[in-house]
Amino acid sequence: MLRLYDLASEQVAPLAPTPGATVGLYVCGPTVYGPPHLGHGRLVLVFDVLRRWMQARGLSVRHVENITDVDDKIIDRAMREHRRPEEIAEEAEAQWWAAMDRLGALRPHESPHATDWIAEMVELVAKLLERQAAYATSDGVYFDTRVVADYGLLKHQDVERLLAGARVAPNEEKRAPADFALWKAAKPGEPSWEAPFGAGRPGWHTECVAMSLGILGEGFELHGGGADLIFPHHENERAQAVALGRPFARRWLHSGLLTVEQEKMSKSLNNYVTLDDLLAAEDARALRLVVCRAHYRSPLEAGADVIAQASATLERIDALAQRLGELPSAAVPPAAVGEAAALGERVAEAMDDDLDTPSALGALFSGLRRANALLDAGDHVGGGALGRAVIEGLEILGLVPVAPGGADAEAEALLAARDAARAGGDYATADRLRDELAARGWRVEDGPAGSRLRRDVAPAR
Ligand SMILES: [Zn+2]
Repeated sequence: MLRLYDLASEQVAPLAPTPGATVGLYVCGPTVYGPPHLGHGRLVLVFDVLRRWMQARGLSVRHVENITDVDDKIIDRAMREHRRPEEIAEEAEAQWWAAMDRLGALRPHESPHATDWIAEMVELVAKLLERQAAYATSDGVYFDTRVVADYGLLKHQDVERLLAGARVAPNEEKRAPADFALWKAAKPGEPSWEAPFGAGRPGWHTECVAMSLGILGEGFELHGGGADLIFPHHENERAQAVALGRPFARRWLHSGLLTVEQEKMSKSLNNYVTLDDLLAAEDARALRLVVCRAHYRSPLEAGADVIAQASATLERIDALAQRLGELPSAAVPPAAVGEAAALGERVAEAMDDDLDTPSALGALFSGLRRANALLDAGDHVGGGALGRAVIEGLEILGLVPVAPGGADAEAEALLAARDAARAGGDYATADRLRDELAARGWRVEDGPAGSRLRRDVAPAR
């Protein structure tokens, strides 16, 4: 059974959803004002691997990742560039999805936009005012953190200590330094919406409460984000739910920060390398491999040399897949037995232990060496079965082999014909050509960038 850490209790405990229930996973998504960087890539890949593993374990998962499309940073950039905030947000969101698709991250089942949830947020702020957990000031509505007895729980520090080191913008009207804006009063030239407590726009912390509860319902299983969101963002989300008397996330998970040459990867430091920079230079799978080599809660150093080394390692995966693809199909055992089954168990054990991807990868790469040794010795059955188990294990992590040197010309021609048939609505022909490719050992994958061929090495399931 999958055991996962929870930041609130600081315990690793079994994930035991009600049988048949869907596991709700809410991950704080991007504020769309610029291109995504490597830190965003890590965040998305960590939760992508978690989702893939939960699904491999037979759990049904509903993955929600919000898009913050109204925020100071978007408005500031729009003003600087004399553009509309909506235009900045749309452009940055398109960049986000394009980069995440190239990283091979599964798209969330839902990606709600803050601006589509204004009515729910207005209602939420009104309820907090009604419960006297919020108060109005001249620049908006603030949350009164004093109403939440265990404020600071996620950071495991009391409020005074929390704020001792934090920069708090002076606001004479705030009742306590930790209080935060739920609703920011309208200013000329900024987007705003009508509300009974005055026109304005929502604060960032309110958005995730409205959308997570609105989509996943009370007491949803998992709330995730980057470690930099623990305080104040997640604490402030939690505080609102507490004040509303609504059961919130059962468990809090955070991915560690990513550094490049010892500097924290953050847009505010202005030292980021964008994901597009990385993807232009390296195999898109290299970042995933680097991310999986570290435990998701640990800090991760991902300088250019680390990424380049991972790219080289990927060639070993591809070479094994190629080798397996060339084996006579009679050598393929129907079910994983012996060493292959043992490998599957070792990987599952590691993944179930709070998503220990470094140990899982360690087992997979020793399996890879062993499979090659068996194949070298002419053991096609043992080497083939173990090799397939290695590839299947890597695929669960999203590390899918690609054919070195690409597909052969004949396969490429079949793919082109199949795409043309599909574009023309002739699905019968398209399916027949796809089956023909499958018979030749090629799997067709349709992605946002078009279709491509993968060496099909996993036995039919
Ligand atoms: Zn959030």
